[in-house]
Amino acid sequence: MNAVSDYINSRRSAFADDLAELLRIASVSADSRQNAETRRAADWVAAQFKNVGLATEVIPTAGHALVYAESPPVPGKPVVLVYGHYDVQPPEPLDEWISPPFEPTVRDGNIYARGATDDKGQMLTHVKSVEAWIKSVGKLPLQVKFLIEGEEEVGSEHLEPYVEKNRNKLACDAVVISDCSQFAPGIPAITYGLRGIAYYELRLRGPKQDLHSGTFGGAITNPANALVALLAALKDANGRIQVPGFYDDVVPLSEREREEYRALPLTDEEFMRSVGVAEMFGEAGYSAIERRWARPTCDINGLTSGYQGEGAKTVLPAKASAKFSFRLVPNQDPKKIAKSLRKFLKDRLPPGIEMELVDHHGAPGVLISLESPYIHAAATAIEAAFGRAPVFVREGGSIPIVNTFARELGADVLLLGWGQNDDNTHSPNEKFSLDDYHRGTLASAHLWEQIAKLESRGQGSGVGGQGKKKD
Ligand SMILES: [Zn+2]
Repeated sequence: MNAVSDYINSRRSAFADDLAELLRIASVSADSRQNAETRRAADWVAAQFKNVGLATEVIPTAGHALVYAESPPVPGKPVVLVYGHYDVQPPEPLDEWISPPFEPTVRDGNIYARGATDDKGQMLTHVKSVEAWIKSVGKLPLQVKFLIEGEEEVGSEHLEPYVEKNRNKLACDAVVISDCSQFAPGIPAITYGLRGIAYYELRLRGPKQDLHSGTFGGAITNPANALVALLAALKDANGRIQVPGFYDDVVPLSEREREEYRALPLTDEEFMRSVGVAEMFGEAGYSAIERRWARPTCDINGLTSGYQGEGAKTVLPAKASAKFSFRLVPNQDPKKIAKSLRKFLKDRLPPGIEMELVDHHGAPGVLISLESPYIHAAATAIEAAFGRAPVFVREGGSIPIVNTFARELGADVLLLGWGQNDDNTHSPNEKFSLDDYHRGTLASAHLWEQIAKLESRGQGSGVGGQGKKKD
């Protein structure tokens, strides 16, 4: 391992130059005028793999190409699949950039450019760690596969079918993704859980047209009144969701998790200041972090009804609708919840109102056990590179591709973010710390060594004994 670390340390500025070269390519996947640049980024990544002798393919799709590469199999050792993306968000608004988005510039130890942290810099740490092993030791201690896509910023349309059709090719024991953040500067993190989602639109219809509220009000149900009553019934005063069976499959927080969260350096005061509220509210008995990461919620995302123009209009609207969603925790089934929700709303529908419930999209949550040997290996690797043990965090949002990998490959997904929360992802002046780039590369190199110490749980089958295949 010393030879590998020495190689990474001695190439520090060369690796930064390589990152700058990739950042100069304007691979904006949403912008078809940049299709040639986007393709050039795919070829650039493929060339990195070919240079160290990996079997490499640039796979065309109906959209932007996928880059696949793999090192030789190492019998008896686990297989790791690294996922990342070479495409970037559009850089606009251009006049808010201090230096141009595709002219990488280093200021205060950070490299500024579109894609610096999301995801070119983070993705490249794994490419460079593989180079370091091959150039210094001659080979990797386990097989590493790479799947790098060019459509992450536009919805990964062609990735999911590719993964579904290539389960054997992509078979692995663990998936490694570095496309998120550390907890705070100097506090690296492993994200071991994501919430799922169930998103709905409720449309109510009353009279055949908008009516005069003075002439008709009081004699029929107002759809807007009905809508707010139905939405209000979804939660009680303690923040508990009232849909029958909603909590049946919720996995409770373990004592270890609650302890981990309590130790995190984020106070309620800091949280309230960051979102600009004077008081917090949520499900009774849980801290703010627990509510955001590990408890299900229900939030209205949009409401439409009646008159919303200037001044007053005494209207009794004919229609009212709302978009709302539940954030789900692992093990909750979006389909089961949809069924129960539909009945809950129907049972409460006031007289003279017709309802339509549109089921927009749903995805289950993901949870990797903190006892997973892969989580343990990642923690050891991160500590070796960053000089402190990572904290264990969950993310309140969903990352659809993580569901796809967990479902199709049955592998533990390691979300190892090297970025910072203030990296301006998707915003002007995106940056990535060159120290974090370096430490991330070292951590990745250590990760291969740590995972190689583990027993493979059945490479080639795609789903091992501890597979997490979900329905
Ligand atoms: Zn990203």
